[in-house]
Amino acid sequence: MAAKLADAVERGKRPERPMDLALAEAEGAGARGEVPVGAVVLGPDGAVLARAGNRTLELRDPSAHAELLAIRAACAALQSERLIDCDLYVSLEPCAMCAAAISFARIRRLYFGASDPKGGGVEHGARVFDQPTCHHAPEVYGGIGESAAAALLKGFFAARR
Ligand SMILES: [Zn+2]
Repeated sequence: MAAKLADAVERGKRPERPMDLALAEAEGAGARGEVPVGAVVLGPDGAVLARAGNRTLELRDPSAHAELLAIRAACAALQSERLIDCDLYVSLEPCAMCAAAISFARIRRLYFGASDPKGGGVEHGARVFDQPTCHHAPEVYGGIGESAAAALLKGFFAARR
């Protein structure tokens, strides 16, 4: 259902529930055999700038996490290395690498779904935004659409066992 909704929402439109788009990207990543994580970047006007799912296997790139791909695409769309007043929605708590990129990109608000005690770098592990070496921390809102994001991941890893 989320995928259908996402298909109806094209780049440049203002989604009512951006996390649904991130979840649809996560579903798509899962269907490609990737860890099901998806991300969406909204511009200052609330319109979709970029959306992406994990592509680490497909691109043979350990940095091809959904957040990084979405940030790169949004920067390309804005022709800027900074995403001032832009917000990022991601289905899972970002890892330390992505949290650092979110900081460098000057993302305004980070909304994430499921918490990730094993690999997260926002509320767990490195807690990147809490470090004195972090020069820009976004506002962080966790637990958005958490149950759907967690169910996707659970189903994915259950199928692999
Ligand atoms: Zn990451």
